[in-house]
Amino acid sequence: MKTINSALPVVVTGGSGYIASWIVKYLLEDGKSVRTTVRSLKDTKKIEHLLELQNKFKDKLTLFEADLLTDGSFDKAIEGVELVIHTASPFFVAGIKDAKKQLVEPALQGTRNVLNACNRISSVKRVVLTSSVAAIHSDNIDSLKVPNNTFTEEHWNTTSNLNHQPYAYSKTLAEKEAWEIQKRQTRWDLVVINPSFVMGPSLSKRLDGTSVEFMKNMLKGVFRTGVPDTKMGFVDVRDVAKAHILAGFTPSAKGRHITSAEVMPMLGVAKIIKEKFGKRYSVPTNNLPKALVYVIGPFFGLSWGYTKNNIGQPMNLNHEYSKTDLGLTYRPLTETFVDHVNQMESSGLL
Ligand code: NDP
Repeated sequence: MKTINSALPVVVTGGSGYIASWIVKYLLEDGKSVRTTVRSLKDTKKIEHLLELQNKFKDKLTLFEADLLTDGSFDKAIEGVELVIHTASPFFVAGIKDAKKQLVEPALQGTRNVLNACNRISSVKRVVLTSSVAAIHSDNIDSLKVPNNTFTEEHWNTTSNLNHQPYAYSKTLAEKEAWEIQKRQTRWDLVVINPSFVMGPSLSKRLDGTSVEFMKNMLKGVFRTGVPDTKMGFVDVRDVAKAHILAGFTPSAKGRHITSAEVMPMLGVAKIIKEKFGKRYSVPTNNLPKALVYVIGPFFGLSWGYTKNNIGQPMNLNHEYSKTDLGLTYRPLTETFVDHVNQMESSGLL
């Protein structure tokens, strides 16, 4: 049980990111003061939307420079606060050349860096960590080992490594490390949000994030010949942001939370877009045969191992705990995808 003083600023790490931007915005709209960290204050392209929020919510938003790999760089932002929402972590699944350097080290060292700062700074009472369903499970085939092929917060990803699903591996190691560090002390508690694939409108015009890139590829016809027959959980970025804030300010909030609106095949996303936008976008209308995915998948970052263990496999996620523990509600995915397309159109990104 932790009651957070809502008059004190809340720290959000990685404020330039897709999810963190919405957390910052909602906190400001709730009347809170926010301190957010970015890698560089000089990179105005990445922080344009934060500068706009700063202008709108006068004196309520402060930006700090911090890097996951630089020890002590989060201390200044965290000094004197009770609630830290740690979201910053590299998120990409394609084009990985050195998984250890690009994914595992920043995720793991960043978690240590932020949580060690929380250990040093005696005002901190609660940390909310953005983990992922990737820390719950790796491949869909792993669902054959769990009741009803449905993953819950009890499950941990045990099948990723540096060579197979390295992003999922980085999230698993980082979340485990966070629980270890938390257990060694009693002043602050840890509440974890485990989102599935996050979609929905972005507050920035960046195209380099994995979620935004997925939607861009879907609309730009990259998958026009078909998509892999694979199931994924999807969730709205605005609901994920709300989950973090509820996790921060609900005194009784506890543990891990699968945060996912619905599991659907990739083709389901295309169907919703086609229904709403007609022929405006050349979205896929069929699944690719598995044999073909083996051949062309590697060009899209899908290894043979991924194809073998995910295509045509069942998988479900149980999100009940996020509803009962946090009081979270989920908007329908149709709204998520439609709002995402509309935002990309109006931002001139298509
Ligand atoms: P983004 O890529 O938009 O955001 C990642 C953030 O991490 C950015 O602010 C980025 O900074 C920051 N970051 C990366 N490396 C460093 C570093 N070395 N030092 C400081 N900051 C760094 O991704 P999302 O918003 O989608 O992801 C945010 C979090 O949510 C991550 O922890 C991700 O694993 C998790 N997540 C995302 C899901 C999704 O579908 N989007 C699903 C489940 C979990 P910069 O802007 O400078 O690049």
